[in-house]
Amino acid sequence: MDATVETTPKKNLIGLTRAQLGEEIAALGEKPFRVKQLWHWIYHRGVTDFSQMTTLARTFQETLAEHFVVDRLEVARHQVSEDGTQKWLLRTDGGHLIESVHIPEEDRGALCISSQVGCTLTCTFCHTGTQRLVRNLEPGEIVGQFMLARDTLGEWPSPTDGNRLLSNIVMMGMGEPLYNFENVKAALQIVMDEEGIALSRRRITLSTSGVVPMMERCGEELNVDLAVSLHAVTDEIRNTLVPLNKKYPIEQLLAACRAYPGASNARRITFEYVMLKGVNDSDADARALVQLLKGIPAKVNLIPFNPWPGVAYECSSNNRIHAFARIVNDGGLSAPVRRPRGRDILAACGQLKSDTVKKRKSEILREQAEAEAAA
Ligand code: SAH
Ligand code: SF4
Repeated sequence: MDATVETTPKKNLIGLTRAQLGEEIAALGEKPFRVKQLWHWIYHRGVTDFSQMTTLARTFQETLAEHFVVDRLEVARHQVSEDGTQKWLLRTDGGHLIESVHIPEEDRGALCISSQVGCTLTCTFCHTGTQRLVRNLEPGEIVGQFMLARDTLGEWPSPTDGNRLLSNIVMMGMGEPLYNFENVKAALQIVMDEEGIALSRRRITLSTSGVVPMMERCGEELNVDLAVSLHAVTDEIRNTLVPLNKKYPIEQLLAACRAYPGASNARRITFEYVMLKGVNDSDADARALVQLLKGIPAKVNLIPFNPWPGVAYECSSNNRIHAFARIVNDGGLSAPVRRPRGRDILAACGQLKSDTVKKRKSEILREQAEAEAAA
């Protein structure tokens, strides 16, 4: 008879908070200062092989290797756009697919990170919203996207000067980050830790479709820059574009923005506004936008709509977008037009969608309701 040996997969250390890492190290009977060393190797140097962590005793390296791994996500596909934008399709444990996108600029670059597999919200202009499979990403899967991009860009150890290829994070990939707040928070705290990746909170922007009850916690506990997907100036239109508006209408959303901890004229809230032909792009809409944002430390980001297969909307014309921008500018708000990047590899805003099998949303919807009720 064959004897089958059961092996438990080794635990990945990526994504553990310092306290959790401390518990693991203590359980191995090691001294607390080892945590600092290990943290440095993992998050400052980007080393994945314990045997290369040369300040650790050989025996400790071996013990670690017996119990743990420092694993990256598996790359299912890596594409580079003609404009230099890169997109990674990543496979998580359990076979879910997620995407992250690196957008290079002249002297810096942002990584657009996913917070969920798919999204429970169903904004009608967003490709991710049509994906039926949804699950929250674990902290390690969120930090892991950053670490993998760093591997590809060759930026370990963490650069200390200003010129990083990967200098900023935007939580604007797949999913609604405020519906996975605990894991997003744990991940961003790891990224901001000064002895590791050490990215400043000022270089992190979290974009929400308007989960009002979670906004205050986001400001208080993370204090990162906030972007709000507004997209319309009346509840009637916003209800059709961002159905979450039926739960948290514009007035409530803007009240939460006014109260956002840390917002000031020097740290404005970005209002994202997708330009949809004949839907939200008239001169009157632009004037109403200026009125709505009065008294809020705000700037506007106009996003040309990025089409995807089967969508009914069209992007406003260039002339229309610039006429709209002029009115908003004249109203005293900065309103740059976001340049679409990586459209040829479907990496631009709202084009992300990974095709995976369907799973029920009920569980995740229940978790979200509980988190909102608790907030
Ligand atoms: N769920 C969060 C963050 C991810 S979406 C949110 O909705 O804010 C990131 C941004 O891309 C949002 O402003 C979203 O409205 C915008 N977006 C979605 N689909 C788009 C599309 N097809 N074209 C342009 N922008 C889009
Ligand atoms: Fe989800 Fe944001 Fe897309 Fe809306 S725009 S479906 S909230 S990812």
